[in-house]
Amino acid sequence: MSAPLLEVKGLTTWYPIRRGVWSRTVRHVQALTDVSLAIQEGETLGIVGESGCGKTTLGRTLVGLERPMAGAMLLRGAVLPAGIRPAALQRQVQMIFQDPAAALNPRLTVLDLLTEALAYHGLLTESREATALQLLRDVGLDGAALHRYPFEFSGGQRQRISVARALALRPSLIICDEAVSALDVSVQAQVLNLLMDLKEKYRLSYLFISHDINVVRFIADRVAVMYLGRIVEEGPTEDVIGSPAHPYTQALISAVPAVGREASARRPLGGELPSPSRPPAGCPFHPRCPSAMEICKTAAPPTISKGAQKVSCHLYSRDLSSQ
Ligand code: SF4
Repeated sequence: MSAPLLEVKGLTTWYPIRRGVWSRTVRHVQALTDVSLAIQEGETLGIVGESGCGKTTLGRTLVGLERPMAGAMLLRGAVLPAGIRPAALQRQVQMIFQDPAAALNPRLTVLDLLTEALAYHGLLTESREATALQLLRDVGLDGAALHRYPFEFSGGQRQRISVARALALRPSLIICDEAVSALDVSVQAQVLNLLMDLKEKYRLSYLFISHDINVVRFIADRVAVMYLGRIVEEGPTEDVIGSPAHPYTQALISAVPAVGREASARRPLGGELPSPSRPPAGCPFHPRCPSAMEICKTAAPPTISKGAQKVSCHLYSRDLSSQ
């Protein structure tokens, strides 16, 4: 079997907190801890979790904007260096950010925005106009956009331009970080459909980061649920969302309003996400978990396969479940 498009093993990204005259490191913000996952060619992996759970740090680390403390990233089996990467590897992994107004340089026209990276990498094979026009067509915009600036477009159009810019270098993997969260619901659907069409057309893979379970359910083939920088459950989207195993996933899904479900049937998650600089011992979810046991306060849960799902929770450990 061929290697996954992207494989991540034990990825750990912590940020030091320094204090005092000598700037001694007193603690770390544990943004990502021991994250392992794989994305196959042509697959969309959704990453869900509350704000502050480490989703964005994961995306930024994969694209080379953050340097991990430990772990490995492999692209088609070859090591993907942390930080600055050789140009050929840089091109393979691109990112679409939540806020296109901040991500697109306001001083550049669309023509410049779509062709500057190609020119930098020496990959312009046609005229700049022809190349940019093709990219605009791919995302459902026309040539009238070429000489305009980002502020002249609506939010949805700006996000289409961001998608075109990410496509320009013909990447294998695009990391979408809350790419539709800032858009109206109707525009969200248009951009999601566009991403699905482009995936088919260019055989792309996506890592789709979102706090919105419904959006992830729509677009992702598999989903990984993050809590306090760790993946707590992973599996095919319909399995994880239809039959969640981890108490955190169950709470996230229960909190989503659903047609036909009474508001009283929802079991929203209590308490706040703990500080990632002082994560609780044992299972980091134990202070908020309705099923917590004594062992959860002291021992980190193992990752257990449950059908096609993987879940990190003591509830599924053989020793405990047989008691
Ligand atoms: Fe809850 Fe314990 Fe499972 Fe953590 S390991 S999710 S605290 S039951």
